[in-house]
Amino acid sequence: MKVSIPKEARADERRVALAPDTVKKLVASGLSVVVQSGAGLEAGFSDADFTAAGASIEADRAALLAGADLLACVNRPDPADVARLKKGAAVIGFLRPLDEPDGLRPFLDAGVTAFAMELVPRTTRAQAMDALSSMATIAGYKAVLVAASRLPKMFPLLMTAAGTVPPAKVVVVGAGVAGLMAIATARRLGANVEAYDVRQAAGEEVRSLGARFLDVDLGGIQTQDAGGYAVELSPEALKRGRDLVAKHVKDADLVITTAQVPGRKAPLMLEEDAVRGMKPGAFIVDLAAPTGGNTALTKPGEEVVVNGVTILAPLNLAATVPLHASQLYARNVAAFLRLLVGEGGALTVNLNDDVVAGACAAYDGKPVNPRVAALLAPAAPTGASR
Ligand code: NAD
Repeated sequence: MKVSIPKEARADERRVALAPDTVKKLVASGLSVVVQSGAGLEAGFSDADFTAAGASIEADRAALLAGADLLACVNRPDPADVARLKKGAAVIGFLRPLDEPDGLRPFLDAGVTAFAMELVPRTTRAQAMDALSSMATIAGYKAVLVAASRLPKMFPLLMTAAGTVPPAKVVVVGAGVAGLMAIATARRLGANVEAYDVRQAAGEEVRSLGARFLDVDLGGIQTQDAGGYAVELSPEALKRGRDLVAKHVKDADLVITTAQVPGRKAPLMLEEDAVRGMKPGAFIVDLAAPTGGNTALTKPGEEVVVNGVTILAPLNLAATVPLHASQLYARNVAAFLRLLVGEGGALTVNLNDDVVAGACAAYDGKPVNPRVAALLAPAAPTGASR
């Protein structure tokens, strides 16, 4: 099987799908790896690094695509790139299958197999392939640093000859993978941290990081599904969470919001009044921006200032730490890729494997994952009934 790595096309992308340490392992296992010239430069990997790891370099993108059995990428390749792939070739990457399902149509038209890293089931067996968690870890870390470098304050409590500097107060909304990393990072810098999550299970993790968990009585409703994810809440339960958050962000220096519900628009966690009730000079970093944002005033990808409160809404923070992001992503991709290697090293799509089938958005011209299939199904006719 020939595994090909293109240079990412998105302007804000600095990651590459495979890093040299992972290429070395794949080559040792008998696969051949071809890297587009310059693909790793922004992540700190030269063509020579890839060659030393056993890959070959291809300068011509069209030739790289035409020769690929499996194209490993970070972002979804554009339709012109997909059209250049062989029928039966496969693509692995963040393909945005649930929020942009129409982006999968070129794969269906071309008979190209599409594996979306977002769809890899979050089971114990697939943990090594969990690229969402890898990238969320980086985003949570970087969110704190981006804000810390802009705040007019320091984070730690300092007792100096010139007097005492009180610690900064950080509130984290949503204590999943990104939120927990943000809490840990803010704590390491010396801030006082409070965190809220609708999943009670998050409370213990928050406290173990030395932060205070903000608890609210939601009347004993179910807040998480069997996979450990938050479920969509009733308007009443959402409002209780929002009221609690509004009270606690009033005197915060930094608020990091990460609340998301898979496949849905991000829940509204801070209404306009809550933002306006914050101190001038405070910052919000809204990591839910890619799914619409957690504040009423968030503009995804932009910076908004309201009453002296700055809302940052980055869309691709993981790409700003490209070396580690690429290395972790590459290991996730390689772990998944191993499920696709059949006899004699040939690309083999075994849809009886729950991880392969779960991540498969398109195979042989048809959608596979049921959520993707439902999103791509023609809308039921409305109007006259028969
Ligand atoms: P996510 O990005 O979908 O959501 C981020 C956080 O927002 C979650 O903690 C969620 O509970 C929270 N949230 C959603 N709606 C909210 C609301 N209205 N108010 C407050 N908080 C809200 O989730 P994630 O961070 O990718 O993962 C969340 C959890 O999923 C993990 O903590 C873990 O329990 C589970 N998980 C399991 C595995 C695995 O088993 N391999 C891997 C990753 C995550």
